Amino acid sequence: MRSRFSKKSSGVFSGDSSESGAWGSVRLLRPYFKRYWLRLSGGFASLVLVDLLQLYIPRIIKYAVDSLQKGHATPRLLLDCGLYIFLMAIGIATFRFVWRHLILGFSRLVETLLRNRMFSHLLGLDKEFFQKNTAGEVMALATNDLSAVQLATGMGIVALFDAVFMGLAAFGFMLYIDPVLTIIAVAPMPLLAFLTRTLSFRLHGRFKKVQEQFSVLTEFVRSSISSIRLVKAYNQEEYQGERFARMGETYVKNNVRVAAIYGVLFPVSGFISNLSMLLVMIFGGRLTIRGTISAGDFVAFISYLFLMTWPMMALGWVADLFQRGVTSLGRIENLMKVRPVLGDSQDAPSVHLLRGEIGARKLRFGYPGQTEPILDGLDLEIGAGTFLGIVGRTGSGKTTLCNLLARLLPVGDGRLFFDGFDVNSVSIESVRSAIAYVPQDVILFSDTIAFNIAFGAPRADREKIEKAARAAAIHEEIVGMPEGYETKIGEKGIKLSGGQRQRIAIARALLLDRPIIIIDDGLSAVDMETEHAIIRSIASFLEGRTCIIVSHRIAPVADADRIVVMENGRIADQGTHSELIVRNAFYSTIHRHQTLVPTLQRTDGGANGGQS
Ligand code: ATP
Ligand code: MG
Repeated sequence: MRSRFSKKSSGVFSGDSSESGAWGSVRLLRPYFKRYWLRLSGGFASLVLVDLLQLYIPRIIKYAVDSLQKGHATPRLLLDCGLYIFLMAIGIATFRFVWRHLILGFSRLVETLLRNRMFSHLLGLDKEFFQKNTAGEVMALATNDLSAVQLATGMGIVALFDAVFMGLAAFGFMLYIDPVLTIIAVAPMPLLAFLTRTLSFRLHGRFKKVQEQFSVLTEFVRSSISSIRLVKAYNQEEYQGERFARMGETYVKNNVRVAAIYGVLFPVSGFISNLSMLLVMIFGGRLTIRGTISAGDFVAFISYLFLMTWPMMALGWVADLFQRGVTSLGRIENLMKVRPVLGDSQDAPSVHLLRGEIGARKLRFGYPGQTEPILDGLDLEIGAGTFLGIVGRTGSGKTTLCNLLARLLPVGDGRLFFDGFDVNSVSIESVRSAIAYVPQDVILFSDTIAFNIAFGAPRADREKIEKAARAAAIHEEIVGMPEGYETKIGEKGIKLSGGQRQRIAIARALLLDRPIIIIDDGLSAVDMETEHAIIRSIASFLEGRTCIIVSHRIAPVADADRIVVMENGRIADQGTHSELIVRNAFYSTIHRHQTLVPTLQRTDGGANGGQS
């Protein structure tokens, strides 16, 4: 069985390295190179110094050995040589620290700035994007892909620069000592670059699998923990444990496959560089014996050969680092290219919508990929300060309507008006900041109660927070908790009851001083007594505001100026409570159920607070 944990990504990030022109995405980094050019120049200057010092050490060794061979070496001269090398080692260590700080620091800055840009961009995207792409995919982008970019912009450019500069310089010094010997000695080197290239290409594929499997493991743990109550209620602990163990086995297998490549790469590259050494011993030794080159040259030559081995290996490695970086950058660019569907009117002017008057004309809406519209030509006029109730069968489009009003879904031109303005002619923010919205699915942060209530107005003082909490009939319960308003509510508010969660969400909206308030089924999880308490206490809050309350129960909407009955995305009827009881079959039926059933149960001695 293929679960969602073994499925491949289907979102916007699936564009992969095979995409032509992937290098084009490097333009994303251009601003950072421009901004930090001075830092980078300093870094590369230090890198050059390190390389030069490293290249100079063999010259000193040559001088010492030649002096020994020619017989004019003194202990003082050898001590001086040793001291020079020691000083150079200090220089190397210092400048190595400097370049690491400057260049690797640059790559970390790029990573952070790019992550900030991604996060801001993500916050601007709308519902549609998050329906198509899972949190896991977005997280992978913000972790694995960004770290691939960081590696390429840090160690990648260092290794490339080093490979070219150090490789060529060492090669030059070797040529200077003896051209023919150089050709012989470096003959096996391309093999080394080729080997690293081939193996690191394989490594890339295998490493990707390790990372993918790691995301699978993480996502599995995340979803198991966040739905732990369900796992327990369905006795699935053992089964989930087994599935996790199987995923762990795959993870180990993938890692062993990576280790196998390293197991080949290091010994074989060691073998190749020793092959070069053998050639130098045979041919260089002969040249030294014949006196064509000095003993010092021979030793220096070997040192340069060592200095060349790393750049040759780096060449293969660099290609892989850049390839990975570019692949990841391409995926990040794909994300940055996603535009919010609702973003079109973002250039539109911001206006203050203070009256709270709403008009919908032939409002239509269908979710992407659906042939039948969910809302089908809906007409609705809501005067400023009106209390409108909305009822209707489940799936009739109530939440969809609320989301359209709250500007969370796109609307066609000339369909929806606030204070006489077409919503598409004013900025989205203008509309959203006129509305306090309590969505049907309560969303809470794993933070304190005070933070959750004040989310829309972070600067609100405790007095205001408490006032909103009182109006939502939750204050008493909050102060009864061990840490009152500072109580941490756990992930998604796990420590609270369903009704408490709903009332915190209502308090959050009441705290905002907005002309329009929309509550989508916000009282469904409270008992009737609390429901009445809330209705009574929020009445004064709602006065003078346009208030839209969606409800499956009659009580919260009974006092509304007008109640709309929705059916299949249309308004089937509208009127006051007393009118609808007489006229509308659906309304009168639910009214009968909700008023008669509790009476019957009470006579039966039933204790089920009458929630039908
Ligand atoms: P309830 O009383 O159960 O809350 P509702 O009246 O609020 O129902 P909506 O949530 O507006 O109903 O849903 C109306 C229809 O739209 C349903 O058929 C639902 O399946 C569909 N729908 C809702 N959200 C989406 C979505 N994101 N993508 C596709 N279809 C959706
Ligand atoms: Mg709904």
